[in-house]
Amino acid sequence: MHLQAEKLLFSSHGSRWKRSLMPIHTLYCTSCNGCSDIANTNKSFPAKNGNSFTITTPLYYVNAAPHLGSAYPTVAADAIARFQRMMGRDVRFITGTDEHGEKIATAAARRDMTPQEHCDDIVASYKHLWEKLDISYDAFVRTTSAAHESLVKAVVHRVAAKGDIYAADYTGWYCVDCEEFKDEGELLEGRRCATHLKPCRWHAETNYFFRLSKYQSDIESLLRSDESSSAPSPSPSATSSSLVMPHARRNEVSIFVTKGLKDFSISRANVDWGVPMPDIGIQIPGSKKDSVEGLQTDSSHSEKGVTDSGRGKEAQQTVYVWFDALVGYLSGLLQCPPLSSATAAPTSSSPSTSADIAHVLAAHGWPADVHVVGKDILRFHALYWPAMLLSAGLPPPRAVFSHGFLTKDGFKMGKSLGNVVDPKALVEAYGADAVRFYLLRENVFGQDGDFSEVALRRAAGTVLANGIGNTLQRSVAILDRSFGGCFPVDSDSLDANAPLRIAAEAAGAAAMAAYQEFRFHDALEAVMKLCAATNAYLDNQEPWKKIKEDESSKAAAGQTLTYVCEAIRIVAVMMHPTTPALSERVFEQLGLSSKEWRWEGVQWGGIQKGSAFPSPSPVFRRIECEMVTMPPAELVSIAQGKTRERKGRDGGVKKEGEGKGKRGGSKEGAKGVTEGQVRKEGESREKGARKEKRSKKEDENVEILDGTEEK
Ligand SMILES: [Zn+2]
Repeated sequence: MHLQAEKLLFSSHGSRWKRSLMPIHTLYCTSCNGCSDIANTNKSFPAKNGNSFTITTPLYYVNAAPHLGSAYPTVAADAIARFQRMMGRDVRFITGTDEHGEKIATAAARRDMTPQEHCDDIVASYKHLWEKLDISYDAFVRTTSAAHESLVKAVVHRVAAKGDIYAADYTGWYCVDCEEFKDEGELLEGRRCATHLKPCRWHAETNYFFRLSKYQSDIESLLRSDESSSAPSPSPSATSSSLVMPHARRNEVSIFVTKGLKDFSISRANVDWGVPMPDIGIQIPGSKKDSVEGLQTDSSHSEKGVTDSGRGKEAQQTVYVWFDALVGYLSGLLQCPPLSSATAAPTSSSPSTSADIAHVLAAHGWPADVHVVGKDILRFHALYWPAMLLSAGLPPPRAVFSHGFLTKDGFKMGKSLGNVVDPKALVEAYGADAVRFYLLRENVFGQDGDFSEVALRRAAGTVLANGIGNTLQRSVAILDRSFGGCFPVDSDSLDANAPLRIAAEAAGAAAMAAYQEFRFHDALEAVMKLCAATNAYLDNQEPWKKIKEDESSKAAAGQTLTYVCEAIRIVAVMMHPTTPALSERVFEQLGLSSKEWRWEGVQWGGIQKGSAFPSPSPVFRRIECEMVTMPPAELVSIAQGKTRERKGRDGGVKKEGEGKGKRGGSKEGAKGVTEGQVRKEGESREKGARKEKRSKKEDENVEILDGTEEK
């Protein structure tokens, strides 16, 4: 282990090394006080195959059943994974659950279950939902698995071997929901957590700390790596990727980093439900001081002696849930088979604590090309995680993409309004394709968005049922009746300069560029343009009239209908990352194999003369079910009731939720029903906001409560 650690410690400052005072053989570069320039020496990391693409969703915290806030990024990550597979890349798509921590133990106790029973139950509901939503993950990692636990311990050992762990007393304000110590300065009045608005409790314990401060310059350089580019560019080559996307989020993180990174506690003394802290030869408690010059530490904790004698209470410490969970991405990769191209590197899926972890992980597709995360957990992924990896001698992720939160009809989702959207009910009512299409088409990935069931019904009805389903069925029905269930011509017989063919080529190129940059709404805009061009062509050619005329008119009608089917075939290829089941049904209807999806399929000319197709049947069923979420009108009246209630009680108006920016369709949905009410509600909320003069910070935090990752 030590040999490997030393091998990785190349210094750009020359060879002025000295051995640290630690009992562990760690080398320090005297110029940068800790050799924190590893990020710039990528040559020292084993390279992964250039054709591989690794993507992760957050590992969802199992304190409650999955909600829309977990379905949304998972659908988006699935679309990226499917697109990259279509591009011929060796994809590893990791999802899973984060199952440790005090909050889980409490949630289990409330349900009269053991923590493990509780986790198993919630995990089953996640897996069920992902199946319903057609999520094509390669591995589902659980942080309570034995393999994960041993990997966490291995990483702790590697980090300790680097001299990056020390013991210290910590006293401070602790938020149980965040599982995090808070700086006095970031608390609200009454020492309330700015995220959870609940009072923090005073906490004093001895913990192990990770020297995050040592990696200040590494993190700065990772964030700087692509400052010049304003557009997200997770291109397949991955050479121009920047660590944090989109750009606005990168700025937020950069500002935070310039204030100085502080070491953070990576163990808990009184949390039993977690990975036991392994014996790293550092005493808790202890007294001998061993402060390392130049390292910035939080003033509220004091470093303890670092010695391999007098071990006492280590066994009672468990690994901090974030340190544990982040390693889950590595565990997930190791559950997958090694990349097909992996050669000499050892490929054991259960590496020991020794040096081969780096090689094994590279052979399995590490580093991740992108971690998709909520904006509330960006800091853990963009700062803590890369530093942990560098410390462990592993390469940092190539990109962290932060998505926004969804409101419901303009209102924050929450228990008080009873407007939490259950993704399971949605998918049961509308099917995976409609839900996936709506989420990716009607929201800009990376920004805050809105969920409106009215808009979902309209989007699915207009595009999936009419634009694609109806157009295909009409065309195939005529071909079936008049040409015996076979295509009368090659679709390639259409002139290369025909407007429909040009439109299809333009749409394919636009959608590819958009998927590559996670601009799903733009990719689907390109699809809709092609649908519109196809329908215009159909209406213009009127094959249903020509089919009844002479032979040459009938032949022309046959050509028109074949070209329409070809355009819809291309639409199905472009839609595969978003609506995989619909794309398959379209291909089946066209008599084409839907086994393998390749992006090259967007090229014109996929239908052969004489090829047969089955009898016409709808590829997308019409939406006729009842609404399954709270109607906007009801939501507004409940919100008004709450506002009045609070006004009476407090003599002031408290905001229930701020209508946030929405894209066209969804806004209209709520408007149609309750325009007057919405406006009135908006006005009273505005007034309330002025009266109460809540701090900007507090307002921002209202949306953090939307219900994504909290621990
Ligand atoms: Zn909190």
